[in-house]
Amino acid sequence: MSSCYFCKGKTEIKNVNVDFRWKDKLFVFKSVPLEVCTQCGERYYSAEISKKLDDFVKKQSESKIRPQDTIQVPVFNWR
Ligand SMILES: [Zn+2]
Repeated sequence: MSSCYFCKGKTEIKNVNVDFRWKDKLFVFKSVPLEVCTQCGERYYSAEISKKLDDFVKKQSESKIRPQDTIQVPVFNWR
């Protein structure tokens, strides 16, 4: 267990949903075990998790892995 870089709060491992952008696509990963600050909510991605996410989207883009579910995301132009 360590403390938050920003607020010095306590961090703990939590299973959270992660929005991950790769190229022009958005991927959602459910229940990713990340270190999360209990005070400000800052998330810390370990090298291992980052690499796994990277590998996942690359394999997915080569159609080696099928997603469990697909959601539609509304896109808005600010101007
Ligand atoms: Zn914090």
